[in-house]
Amino acid sequence: MEELQTILDDIVTAARAEPDKGQVASYIPQLANIDPDQFGIAVCLAGGELVCAGDADTLFSIQSISKVFTTTIALGKLGDTLWQRVGREPSGDPFNSIIQLEHENGKPRNPFINAGAIAVVDAIMQGRQPKETLAEILAFIRWIANDEAIYIDDKVARSEVLTGDRNAALAHFMASCGRLSNNVDKVLGVYFHHCSVAMSCVQLARAAQFLVSDGVDLSTGARVLSTQRARRINSLMMMCGHYDGSGEFAYRVGLPGKSGVGGGIIAVVPDVASIAVWSPGLDKIGNSRLGTRALETLTRRTGWSVFGR
Ligand code: GLU
Repeated sequence: MEELQTILDDIVTAARAEPDKGQVASYIPQLANIDPDQFGIAVCLAGGELVCAGDADTLFSIQSISKVFTTTIALGKLGDTLWQRVGREPSGDPFNSIIQLEHENGKPRNPFINAGAIAVVDAIMQGRQPKETLAEILAFIRWIANDEAIYIDDKVARSEVLTGDRNAALAHFMASCGRLSNNVDKVLGVYFHHCSVAMSCVQLARAAQFLVSDGVDLSTGARVLSTQRARRINSLMMMCGHYDGSGEFAYRVGLPGKSGVGGGIIAVVPDVASIAVWSPGLDKIGNSRLGTRALETLTRRTGWSVFGR
């Protein structure tokens, strides 16, 4: 294989030269102000070695990438009973779609669409206050990233609260079907805040390490999740991690991955590496345009796709 650093440097050079970087998310006003010309990538190898290029240390809004972490917490807490509240099938619909909910009696298709992530928050809360639940989620992310400095960007969270009518509609619809056990506004508050965690590519690649090595964080030796559940999170990312673009991502990149409308994507090469890439411009579906292209180049040049070289 070529030198990984060379591949990442080439990817950054190509991204910087690309005139069409996609559109930054504008439905969350605080994200509309982000400079689309930034690009970062970090790869954390199974042995712990970190290779990065571009703006890999710049913080950005992780948005739906946080759903991987909340789903991990929920699986750890509830085990397979989680699947009574949320399914594990790809939706084939946009991330904030309400259509399926009505057809399927308020049960979201999977934990990575907005409705599913709201159901996951409800499962994690277990009657506690939003502050306690958020503290638990943040502590978990800090633990797996091995970085106590990670924080929730309150400006982004407020921006989401003020413009969150669609998510509120999803949550109220689920509540009307008897699917939520906690107060709807409290559940939404936790959801908006966990989407607003700020992290860099380096921190995200580090945080996804446990998915590379069967649930164990090899740098600390800590078991984050059972082997079987880590495998299941990876399969959910493969099938549902990019909303109605999940098939396209599997076709082009061939790795379990999860995107967020902040322009970040994490991807996992089982037994080999975790990857985080960030480019704020999105495609029509809401996945990072150049981030996806970067991962496509990376798997082509390294042979890392899980579907073969
Ligand atoms: N907080 C965003 C929302 O609720 C997350 C969407 C995403 O990253 O895909 O719309």
